[in-house]
Amino acid sequence: MLYSELAETFDRLESTSSRLEMTDILAAFLKTADRSELRSIVYLSQGKLHPDFVPGVLGMADRLVLRAIAFTSGTPEDKVEKMWVETGDPGNVAESLISRKKQMTLFSEDLTVERVVKGLTAIQDADGKDSQERKMKTLANMLHDSGPLEARYLCRTVTGRMRVGAADMTILDALAIAFSTKEDRPAIERAFNITCDIGLVAETIATGGMDAIRAIDVSVGSPVKVMLAERLPSVAQIVERMGGRCAIEYKYDGIRVQAHIGKDGVRLFSRRLEDLTSNFPDIAEELRRTCRYGEAIIEGECVAIDPDTGNMLPFQNVTHRRKKHGMDEAVKEVPVRIFMFDCLYRDGEDMTSSPYLDRRAALETGFEIGGAVQMTTMRIVESEEEGEDFFSSAVASRCEGIMAKSIESDSVYRAGNRGFLWIKYKKDYQQALTDSFDLAVVGAFYGMGKRAGRYGALLMAAYDQETCRFETVCKLGTGFDDAFLDGMPALLDGTLSETKPADVDAEMVPDVWFEPAVVLEVVAAEITLSPIHTAARDVIKDGAGLGIRFPRFTGRVRDDKSPEQCTTVGEIVDMYGMQAHDSDGLSE
Ligand code: ATP
Repeated sequence: MLYSELAETFDRLESTSSRLEMTDILAAFLKTADRSELRSIVYLSQGKLHPDFVPGVLGMADRLVLRAIAFTSGTPEDKVEKMWVETGDPGNVAESLISRKKQMTLFSEDLTVERVVKGLTAIQDADGKDSQERKMKTLANMLHDSGPLEARYLCRTVTGRMRVGAADMTILDALAIAFSTKEDRPAIERAFNITCDIGLVAETIATGGMDAIRAIDVSVGSPVKVMLAERLPSVAQIVERMGGRCAIEYKYDGIRVQAHIGKDGVRLFSRRLEDLTSNFPDIAEELRRTCRYGEAIIEGECVAIDPDTGNMLPFQNVTHRRKKHGMDEAVKEVPVRIFMFDCLYRDGEDMTSSPYLDRRAALETGFEIGGAVQMTTMRIVESEEEGEDFFSSAVASRCEGIMAKSIESDSVYRAGNRGFLWIKYKKDYQQALTDSFDLAVVGAFYGMGKRAGRYGALLMAAYDQETCRFETVCKLGTGFDDAFLDGMPALLDGTLSETKPADVDAEMVPDVWFEPAVVLEVVAAEITLSPIHTAARDVIKDGAGLGIRFPRFTGRVRDDKSPEQCTTVGEIVDMYGMQAHDSDGLSE
């Protein structure tokens, strides 16, 4: 297929904000696409070359891309740079300078999807001496045979700016329409949740239909989307909701890890599918050593331990370890333990459909527990008093709170879902709001007074899973220390956007916009109706959205979460419902 056909589809996707329309455009296109190219097409529509858990990202520097544009279009570099300063997007610059399809010459070659994938892969993998020059030339080579639209999307893809609205959920909807029926949508989503590979799902359904989709199983090496917990404001409500009897585990304050223990070694994935194996080589080794299964997939929380006292340390200590350079030294300085809480697979058996107690038993029998490999502390409780008592001992052991888990026969592992089979309860809940929020930065306001010359406040958004859009909930200006204020440009400027990003809904206009990428943890006093914020607009009250009052940054950058994994608008609506509120007054 010619890349121009794909670029035209991207253009059509980009020119609508209606998710239904996007789904139809995608469905029609995927249906006619060559089966052998479907995987690549799906990845390219998300600006990628492969699923997230495969290492390697495209992130060519803007200036290098500008050189390729100058080289191909024969435009002086200073003119190209000036246009870039004006538009902020190398894609737009390329589109205007490569304004028409050139005459085919002896040196021209069709720009096919296959050629683009090869070129982009070469750019991604270029390493070592002269790699910048090679990247530039490879891109220039593709631009040489591009029309304006292809040039726009090539440049956006290599700089990591590809956001045409092809979110995972939209692609899954489109696949159901193109190759099956809406009724099969849950089964298609399950296949995605247990493989985290949208390209694989697309190829499977197109070539083997629903039978092949249903035959997809959990397998070692393919991360499974993590199961998430709901929240309730009291232990009493949790025990009642669980039917009067449930398991309660300590909720550890560390980093969630999904360990894939295979015959050839162990790989550890974060909840955003990054490979964490090199951060926890000691844990990987201990899991392999203590595991009695040939193969297994387990989950646990990696927690830093004070080597002098043996006490658990707060999460910052594990993230600190992630950033350490000398790993041998870090392993000694910051010992880590894994507290295992789930088993998703063992020796050919997919355990995600087994009840909680069976999965826990699979951990207890499958590992030699001790040292760095531990089980989460757990108790079955049958009353509020027992629950409260267990909560106190969790807090005394320096845990964040508790995780209640259903022990009913239907207590399966729901990959990628947030539901009441797991309910979290944290010590913070006893003070103010029901939970902290993980919000995406979508804009910044320049500071004044002591903050002059720096970003002083940020515009923060939650993610709406229904519409696949980011909707604002607050302007955040509290909780930043000097180091964070100084570090903000380095953290955020790579995601600068000249205009409001296409997937952001905002009425408040910041001084600069950012593509949603960076996630910060925020606590607040209250969720209120807001005339300016766009989250849940018209859901509770016509003309009003939901905003959070007195937001404060906790100091925690959630780099283990992608922007789509931040707190959802649906969760904020639920939290608003849980909050005791009797006023309908509007506040910003
Ligand atoms: P969420 O995971 O709900 O999106 P979050 O990542 O902000 O939210 P929390 O609200 O703190 O995390 O709660 C869920 C997380 O708690 C899990 O993802 C996991 O990392 C951690 N955790 C700690 N102890 C346990 C446990 N015993 N069982 C399950 N998860 C646990």
